[in-house]
Amino acid sequence: MDEQKYRERRERMVKTQLIPRGIKDPRVLDVFAKVPRHLFVDPVQRHMAYSDHPLPIGLEQTISQPYIVALMTQSLALKGNENVLEIGTGSGYQTAILAELARHVYTIERLPQLSEKAQNILQELQYKNISFKVGDGTGGWPEKAPFEAILVAAASESVPPALIEQLSPGGRMVIPVGDSPVQDLLLLIKNQQGIEEQNLCGCRFVPLIHE
Ligand code: SAH
Repeated sequence: MDEQKYRERRERMVKTQLIPRGIKDPRVLDVFAKVPRHLFVDPVQRHMAYSDHPLPIGLEQTISQPYIVALMTQSLALKGNENVLEIGTGSGYQTAILAELARHVYTIERLPQLSEKAQNILQELQYKNISFKVGDGTGGWPEKAPFEAILVAAASESVPPALIEQLSPGGRMVIPVGDSPVQDLLLLIKNQQGIEEQNLCGCRFVPLIHE
């Protein structure tokens, strides 16, 4: 399939899956129309890359449904000058979206094979503002903290305390929390009174593995 076809599919994805469900930040809508999601999935899955569901990326992991990636991204309210921490690089698709919208993305993945694959494609796409780490992300990345935004792409029974610590004052974190197959997607905002919590929706994520 040629580039023009993929571009049309991206535009259709924005119009039919994102806008009607309340994604309205113009910067977020622009990057979803731009980032080539099909390059982050297996070649045999490419024809489904812009469909309204998650897809397997190998090793029992998944790339989230476009709408969920968009909702998590919009909730972080990125303006362009933030340092962002991402836990669960996976395919690297969400990483690319964040790299388009923030100053720098620090991303941690526990499975070396997935991290390597994501690094290759993100280098090919010429992103220069991403740092990668292989390991357990539940401890965050203390050397690079604090972060104005943190995105966790795997479900945890509770919010890892290190991540709260590494959030800047006024910072925002989006994280799926719960121990059942359906979790709550939470937005946490660190303000002077403490942590303000909003429940965005129900969601299904692979588990965050604590090592
Ligand atoms: N956002 C990704 C999807 C990630 S799926 C995308 O766009 O493709 C969740 C990822 O979190 C998986 O790749 C899984 O290996 C990783 N993961 C699970 N527990 C982790 C941990 N403790 N630290 C870092 N990564 C973890």
